[in-house]
Amino acid sequence: QPIIQMRGVTKRFGNFAALRQIDLDIEAGEVVVLLGPSGSGKSTLIRCINLLETYDEGDVVVDGIRVEEGRALRQVREEVGMVFQAFNLFPNLTVLDNIALGPVRVRKLSWAAAREKARRLLARVGIAEQADKYPIQLSGGQQQRVGIARALAMEPRVLLFDEPTSALDPEMVGEVLDVIKGLAGSGTTMLLVTHEMGFARKVADRIVFMEAGEIKEIASPDTFFTRP
Ligand code: ADP
Ligand code: ADP
Repeated sequence: QPIIQMRGVTKRFGNFAALRQIDLDIEAGEVVVLLGPSGSGKSTLIRCINLLETYDEGDVVVDGIRVEEGRALRQVREEVGMVFQAFNLFPNLTVLDNIALGPVRVRKLSWAAAREKARRLLARVGIAEQADKYPIQLSGGQQQRVGIARALAMEPRVLLFDEPTSALDPEMVGEVLDVIKGLAGSGTTMLLVTHEMGFARKVADRIVFMEAGEIKEIASPDTFFTRP
């Protein structure tokens, strides 16, 4: 059974359909990159998976759970991690506690255990030495690595990325992409919106190309990028 199943998902803003009849399956361990022009519905699609946007028609099923308000949504959000373009860190918490908070509040870990876990994750994203700083003291690339560690702390079944490098200065893009590549190499299931074509070609198992709220094509990166 796929981790994410979307069937006939339609999303309207007023009369405008941002998503039209989206069908998409994502299997465990897959890395799927959403490409398409600005405004084609990529961000809306991933936001429908954890109900940051509600959808009007169809079904989104995550790990066998239909995504809808209430208990199902809380369960789904525990299984679906999200990394945002603008980092969305808590400014008044240290780096370590930004990562530890989710496990404390949602998984009921003690602060000591959650901070221990947070330290391991900080080492994994390569910024162990930044643990006691506040987000504003970090570079954008470092902040996004905290964002990734925070998502991983919940041990999600799948990670969603909404343009994770678009807010970064160019010299910091590579360090964040390297962390994401590492996750892909270790079998993390991921759905990403990104404009980094070299990354998409190297790391994606499948490319999903969207236009005007529809999926126009699903292809392997080799097929997608070598077409005349
Ligand atoms: P992409 O991520 O591909 O750039 P989006 O999913 O952000 O596209 O947006 C798809 C379309 O939906 C765009 O035309 C956008 O203007 C519109 N849209 C997105 N969010 C809203 C909103 N909250 N209200 C009205 N229109 C929206
Ligand atoms: P509260 O005000 O109780 O923190 P929230 O609505 O902020 O409620 O979040 C409820 C739960 O959903 C929290 O565990 C939070 O970590 C999680 N959550 C919030 N936004 C997202 C998201 N975009 N993706 C995944 N989980 C989220």
